[in-house]
Amino acid sequence: MTIALRYAAYSDVGHIRGGNEDSGYAGPYLLAVADGMGGYEGGEIASSIAVSALQPHDGDTLGSEMVEVLKDALDQANNSIAQQVIDNPRLENMGTTVTAMLWSGARFALIHVGDSRAYLLRNGELSQITHDHTLVQTLVDENKITKEEAETHPQRSLILRALNGQGKVDPDTKVVEAELGDRFLLCSDGLSGVVSDDTIQETLRSEPNLDAAARRLIDLANRGGGPDNITAVIADVIDTAADEPSVAPVVVGAADQRREPPMIPDTPAGRAQGLTSKSGDTAEMDAIPADPGPPLSEEPEFRTRRWWPMVLIFLLIVGVLAAAAFYFGRQWLDGQYFIGPDETETNVAVYRGINAEVFGLSFADEVDTTDIALDQLPPSDRDGVEQTISVGDQAEADALVEDLRVRAGEPEDEDEAAGDDEPEGEDAQDQDEQVDSPAQQEEG
Ligand code: CA
Repeated sequence: MTIALRYAAYSDVGHIRGGNEDSGYAGPYLLAVADGMGGYEGGEIASSIAVSALQPHDGDTLGSEMVEVLKDALDQANNSIAQQVIDNPRLENMGTTVTAMLWSGARFALIHVGDSRAYLLRNGELSQITHDHTLVQTLVDENKITKEEAETHPQRSLILRALNGQGKVDPDTKVVEAELGDRFLLCSDGLSGVVSDDTIQETLRSEPNLDAAARRLIDLANRGGGPDNITAVIADVIDTAADEPSVAPVVVGAADQRREPPMIPDTPAGRAQGLTSKSGDTAEMDAIPADPGPPLSEEPEFRTRRWWPMVLIFLLIVGVLAAAAFYFGRQWLDGQYFIGPDETETNVAVYRGINAEVFGLSFADEVDTTDIALDQLPPSDRDGVEQTISVGDQAEADALVEDLRVRAGEPEDEDEAAGDDEPEGEDAQDQDEQVDSPAQQEEG
């Protein structure tokens, strides 16, 4: 009997975050989830670095050194993050969690840093095979709070270990014997922090199709409010005589968008470049090549006389391009909205434009300051607002504001229905009808 893996991987931005900082990977011998942090750009870079450091080892035929290979890959990723921070100090807060499994024969090595999780469903029973490196888990371990209290603790997303380029990586590792029929789930806290273990167990147990199971878990997290990016990698241990193993690697989330983390230099040009590469809708104007000048053999007078019409045409082209860029840029900007903190950083505000500055120029106008205080929001929503949330248009912005107002526990000022509180993870499955957050229309 030859055992192998069949797998599926999905990643979703959720309903609140403006972008996806999670990265996920599934291949014939490697499964990985990395949850990036430190601002959208930094988070997506850090999680992509982690996945791209692990990815080359998918397919290594390894024996007892599996754990060493994983540790080395994480060290390499950590060094790479440190280097990126040196090159670009504005990424200094970036970091990522990593939970990864590497296969060899019927065994797998597990490596883990942070609060992403690995679960094993064996004989219908779900067990978490990683230990969260979080403050709340430490408090639970020390019997200072209960597991239930941890789930709603305000500091529940505070992690104690991460790959952040600072100091040495301190991962948990173990080697586990797999059994035929085992089902593994690797996920970011956007899933495990919203959907209860019972619901995860029930979903993994009842849905034989891997793709459907992964999509359902993501759907459940979104119905539970989708406060964070959600990544789920699921793999079944199968007998190749009876089942078809998966062969094509799947990359999801930030690592999929950013196959090779580009080095963004911290210069005005680099920042402008970073800006254009992030906003897919803006047209990027090609650099105008420097005029190489006429061949050296030509007469100097001839060159002088022919010079000025060229300059005129050149200036005219630059002028027309600049005017066009300004006009279409303005049109595009006026159609963009985002939610962020107001000027005093106390209340939630709605902006038209994009949250970016180039050479000190802002591209956003505040259109409305709401009465929702940032302090009243649950931490994940507050983080989202502080990092700003992009929306398609003013209607969507208004809808999201109403949604936030409900979460802030504000008395509704219009005719919002009461009782639409933020759903708890355990109830996620029962929330189908209640959670009709307008923000669900956001990008999928
Ligand atoms: Ca997360």
